[in-house]
Formats: sequence, C-alpha cells, structure tokens
Amino acid sequence: MPLEAPSRGCVYLVGAGPGDPGLITMRGVECLRRADLVLYDYLANPRLLDHAPAGAERVCLGRHGGGGILSQAEINAWLVRAASAGQVVVRLKGGDPAVFGRASEEVAALDAAGIRYEIVPGITAALAVGSYAGFHLTDRGQASAVALVTGHESSQEEHSPLDYQALAAFPGTLLFYMGVTSAAEWSAALLAAGKPSATPVAIVRRATWPDQRSLNCTLATLADTIAAHHIRPPALIAVGEVVPDAAAGSWFTHRPLFGTRVLVTRAADPADELVERLEALGAGVLLQPALVLGPPADFQPLDQVLGRLAEFDWLVFSSAQGVRSYFDRLLSQSADLRALGPVKLAAIGPGTARALAQYYLRADVVPAEFRAEALASVLAPLAAGKRLLLIRASRGREVLADMLRAAGGLVTQVVAYSSQDTAAPAAEIAAELAAGRIDWITVTSSAIARSLVRLFGSDLAKSKLATISPLTSGVLRELGYPPAAEAKVYTLEGLVDAVRISRQSAVGTLREAGDWRLEDAGTRQFGNAP
Ligand code: SAH
Repeated sequence: MPLEAPSRGCVYLVGAGPGDPGLITMRGVECLRRADLVLYDYLANPRLLDHAPAGAERVCLGRHGGGGILSQAEINAWLVRAASAGQVVVRLKGGDPAVFGRASEEVAALDAAGIRYEIVPGITAALAVGSYAGFHLTDRGQASAVALVTGHESSQEEHSPLDYQALAAFPGTLLFYMGVTSAAEWSAALLAAGKPSATPVAIVRRATWPDQRSLNCTLATLADTIAAHHIRPPALIAVGEVVPDAAAGSWFTHRPLFGTRVLVTRAADPADELVERLEALGAGVLLQPALVLGPPADFQPLDQVLGRLAEFDWLVFSSAQGVRSYFDRLLSQSADLRALGPVKLAAIGPGTARALAQYYLRADVVPAEFRAEALASVLAPLAAGKRLLLIRASRGREVLADMLRAAGGLVTQVVAYSSQDTAAPAAEIAAELAAGRIDWITVTSSAIARSLVRLFGSDLAKSKLATISPLTSGVLRELGYPPAAEAKVYTLEGLVDAVRISRQSAVGTLREAGDWRLEDAGTRQFGNAP
C-alpha cells in the first residue's frame, strides 16, 4: 500500500535489512525516495542511499567513511530537530529497527516531542543467516523455539539482564547478536549454567554480503575459534543442534562467483548490466570507472544533424551511451521520436539494442558480436549510396566509418558524448589492488585498457584481467599485461562467462586455505563510500 500523501516533518524508522541491498522492503524504499535527511547506521548497505533523492542529506552515524559515532541522545535530538523543522527524516537501521536497534529510545524521544513517525520492519540478521547460510531457524523435532539474545550485556556485569540458567535450559536455538567480543564471557556463563560443552555453534559473519563467511565450532571452543581466526563483528552466533554447517554452504555461497572480487572499470552507470550479471552470480563487485563520460565539448554539430534527420537512411549507434546521449538531446529539444521518420537503426551489440528498446525502438541490424568490424560487415552490403549517420564518442576507432565508406556509404559522424580517462583512481581501490585483494579486473574496451595501465601501472599484474575481445586483449598484451581470460562471445555476457569458467577451474582455492582475508572486503561501497 502506498504511503499517505507526503507530509512534512516526520520520521521513518526503516529497517535496511542485513546487507544485501535487495532485502529492504518496498515501503522502506518509498520512505527513502521522499527523504530530505537520511541518518544511517554503519550496518546498513550504503547502496540503499541511491534510493534517496540526489539532494537529500546523507549522514552516517557509524564507521563507514569515518563519521563519528553519536550518542543515542544526540541522535534522538537530531531526529526531533530535523522533523520539527519540517524535514522528512529516514532513520535507516541495519536489520530490523526494533531488534537490538534502540528503536524504543528513539520512539520515546519522538513521542515526547510530539513528532509523527512510522516504523518499517526489516529483515533481521537472524532471519538472514537462516536463509543465506543454510540454516532453518525452526525445525520440526530439533528446534521448536528460537531466542534472539544480545551478547552485549556482559555476564561480568553485576546485574546482567540475562538469565543464563534459563538460556542454558532453553529448548531451542540461541542466536547471539553482538556476541563476538564478549563471546568468552557469555559462552562461559552458558557452560557454567549447564549447557553441554559440545553444543554445536556456528559463527556467520556479514551474512548476505558478498563476503559472508561462516565457521563451526562448539560452545567450549567458541572463544578460541574467534581469537584464532581474528573474527570481528558483525557476526551472528548460533548455538544449538540445528546451526548451519559451514562446510556444506548454502545456495548463496554455492553461486559460481561467490567469494570472487571483481573490479568493474566501465564508465559509471547506475544500471550497469555487467555489475548486475556479476552480482547475480555472487561476485563482490567494486567500481573504478576508467573513463569519465560527459556531454560533448560542443553540442552544435549534434544539434545540426538532429535538425535534418530526414536526410539520413541509417542511424548507427556504437554504444548504449551513444543512444542515451543522442535521445536525451533530441527529447530535450521539444522533439519526440517522430523526428526519426523512416530512418533505419543499427546497434553495435545487444546492450546498445537494449538501450534503443528503452525508447521503444527496435534496431534493424544488430551483429552477433560486439565489434565495429562485425557491425560494418553486416551494414556494408546495405551501405552503397546510402547516407549513414554514426553517433559516437569524442574518441574511438575509425574502423566503422572507414569500412562503410569503402562499401560506398556516405558517412557523417557526430560526437554525442565525450570520453576521457579518469584522472586518478579512488584511494581505497588502489590500496585493494596493491594488496592483491582484487581477483579480477574486467576490461571492456581498448580505451579502458589504456586508461587502466595509466591508473594502476604494474599493480595491474596483481589481479587477473578479463577482456571482452581479442582486440582489447591485444592492447593489453602490447602494454605488457596479458589477460588471463577473454570473452568467447564479445558481449558483457561473454565476458562474465569467461570469468566464471576460469573461476570454476580454480574453485575452492581461497576457501580451502581457510582464508578470512575477505572479512573486511567492502563491496561496491568501496568505490563510493561517503
Ligand atoms: N537491528 C539489527 C541488529 C543490530 S545489533 C538487526 O535486526 O539485525 C548489531 C549486531 O547484529 C551485530 O553485532 C551482529 O551480531 C548482528 N548483525 C547485523 N547484521 C549482520 C550480518 N549481516 N551478519 C551477521 N550478523 C549481523
């Protein structure tokens, strides 16, 4: 159900879910869409902020990006102040706002100040561990009850609110939140209260994130296991007979690219097909655009051809960005698609054809391979005597124009967008690469290949390079960085396939090494942390 008409001066306490950005509720997204101010926890995936309007203020209350941690009283005061001033405030909290999320304190402050609020539930860490780490929270016969417990209230405190006798006797699974640093105390307290030392335990860190890890031990060995593996929060610790079996994994960890970190270097695009495909296979994706795309230095040539489209027989697009830049300009000039008239449309590959489809246009010609040569050879027999308009970037290869001219076409080229090398890499990405913590770098054009070499130099050799075509591979080889994988079909899908196949042959090396090096691996947040 949609929210009521936007009203000013209110607070939405929104559960962000456990990490996977798809695990927020639709209502949570609606609230973010209307936010003026988002106050978010370090446990909330910063990618969720993309749902908020560009102009909304975003404030991290935790560790991401170095924001200081405010006291609860300060947070409460901020909520009240902002809502009183008429702002729509989203308080975005990891998991569910009311499960160890101090919602009650925030609600009390809002009530006291007479501020309107809503609470939007979220998927709490325990549920996420259940679904993503191969664990059934309840099980007929083995676990008829679950208890959500905080490990934060140390058993050493004089008045621990936890009754360890009752917990030790609890007929079901105990799920400890905030229990990593205090594990020695609470596990000892449970043992002292009579819980068997061989009780199975699973530690699941960063559930639902691309670097989710889990480990098994027993109640008796828990503290030592945490110390030996240097496990740090956030982790959920499950105690009981039905805890997940780390070795068996789950649907989530069995995905073909799970545990693989891939750097995507295409120009920034919020709906990047490459990113989507990689993430769907379980990869942890980091972003470092090697190119910066922008408006052309001069719109005049483009505007001129837009005014005389009727003179052309073919419009030829060699990138999805070309399609978007071209139509954005056309539509901004109070024209609409009828300006195209009967002109035929050619797209260099399926991605470009999809970009056309977003404008309800079907490409008349799409070669099977994403390559200028392939497009030229499909168009060449149709080109003689025809007027072709090539929509292109400020730089790029001339091969398409040359081949079409050679086939007798009358070729006009026009620049619809500019493409420049990125001046410097993000510091976090450069550090990750230097430390050898990026498994793959995707290289989707010759221009990107050259820019990457300028950006990272010899550190490129610390990661495997996967290219979209022999042409791109050739450029890399010339520059001294031979690729480890190359797409068989020259599309983004082919590229992802090449990584997947390569990865399959090396499967398990990372995990067999018992290596928790991914434990602080960011995901895409590295590229755009606040
Ligand atoms: N409101 C949150 C809990 C906040 S308390 C929720 O409903 O999930 C913080 C604790 O939650 C962490 O110390 C950890 O125990 C747990 N936690 C949160 N996100 C987690 C995740 N993705 N994986 C494992 N544990 C997580």
